[in-house]
Amino acid sequence: LSSGTDLFILIGPPGSGKGSLSELCIRNLGWTQLSTGNLCRKHIADQTEIGKQIDFAIKSGKLVSDSLVTSMVEEWLQSQMGKVPAVILDGFPRTVAQAKALDEFLKSRNQTLKLSIIRLLISDENVVSRLSNRYICSYIECQAIYSIGVGSTLVPKKSMICDICNYVLIRRKDDEESAIRERLLIYNKHQHDLLNFYKSAQYQVLELNVEKPLSDVFESFKKLVDIGFKK
Ligand SMILES: [Zn+2]
Repeated sequence: LSSGTDLFILIGPPGSGKGSLSELCIRNLGWTQLSTGNLCRKHIADQTEIGKQIDFAIKSGKLVSDSLVTSMVEEWLQSQMGKVPAVILDGFPRTVAQAKALDEFLKSRNQTLKLSIIRLLISDENVVSRLSNRYICSYIECQAIYSIGVGSTLVPKKSMICDICNYVLIRRKDDEESAIRERLLIYNKHQHDLLNFYKSAQYQVLELNVEKPLSDVFESFKKLVDIGFKK
């Protein structure tokens, strides 16, 4: 790894395993993940200046502005730089405006933060089959994820019962096929815009095939990232 902190953005549809891959990086590589959702909640709870503005936007039914999210992320990155080898950004950048703002911030840091874009490749059909086979534990404190897909390593031991807490498994409304196809339409448009921005801004976009078991995905990811670092 380089002397500064490396930043990664995983671009992939719902069901492409962004969360699972991030967890492996945290557990095995000592990386950290920035979740903008969690960071927003922390600012609100701590009643910081940013937190008050976010709280106000949410309470008045507005979207939290790109500039507010960006300044929150930048402040966090400043505080983490050099403390961790790498950070995976989760839920950011959500828009091209946020991507542009991050790009400007990185340029102002004189290469102390290096950003790599990893595009997770999976077909729409595979996303639909993965997500429509996905069930989660109904116990709110658990929410373990299972799959009833043939050959999956996540099949529960007892049919439709959580291995960990014995609560019944449920399917989220979001994971019904029609809902998945709708999410994919929105996602594909969003992905297209972000990738176009990153290509035009001369960032390296690395591609990772995720249509295989998670352990294989992780091995390929580590190789890919090494190649990225050497460049
Ligand atoms: Zn459970």
